[in-house]
Amino acid sequence: MDETMEQTRQRAQQILERLKAQYPDAKYYLNFSNPLELLVAAILSAQARDEAVNAVTAELFQKYKTAEDYATAPLERLENDLRKINFYRNKARAIQAACRALVERHGGRVPDTMEALTKLPGVGRKTANAILANAFDKVEGIVVDTHVARLSRRLGLTAHDDPEGIERDLMALLPKSEWKRLPWLMKAHGRAVCTPRAPKCPRCVLNDLCSKVGVQR
Ligand code: SF4
Repeated sequence: MDETMEQTRQRAQQILERLKAQYPDAKYYLNFSNPLELLVAAILSAQARDEAVNAVTAELFQKYKTAEDYATAPLERLENDLRKINFYRNKARAIQAACRALVERHGGRVPDTMEALTKLPGVGRKTANAILANAFDKVEGIVVDTHVARLSRRLGLTAHDDPEGIERDLMALLPKSEWKRLPWLMKAHGRAVCTPRAPKCPRCVLNDLCSKVGVQR
């Protein structure tokens, strides 16, 4: 018999509790000290490893302090400063476009609303959610990255493939107080155990709670 919504909700809560116990130190994975730094790091993190982003931003944030610094830098110089990151040319352009919009529309400051953030070039709902939750402590949704998408589907918490659909399902299953931490926990578990290929189900703390959708048994 199919699970009822209430049963899925209870299962989602149990999953969360086990992940919290398993990864008590899980935290946001990109280094930043202000909203602008998080915006830049988030743009750099697309299809790049967090460690690589953090290594590049450690130097980058010493050189570029304001949105204007990025907006007015010669493109070649910015590209050179980002060269160790995948797709650095496109990302240099994206950072400049977003920072020019910040200077033109927001006095150089990163806005703190979903509406204004998602109007910035190159900033989608995932990045906006990450900035709002982690830089402003304003939780409006759930960051759906590749780990959250993969785990949510395997666990049977969503049948959607698109990030918006996955986010809606997770928001309906878990209380808002958990939305910020969930992606941190799922990322930790997605890296350690529920890996894209060959997930380690026999030694997974969620084994008895997991539907294993799409996982070969
Ligand atoms: S049981 Fe397997 S598919 Fe389910 S969360 Fe654990 S590793 Fe992933």
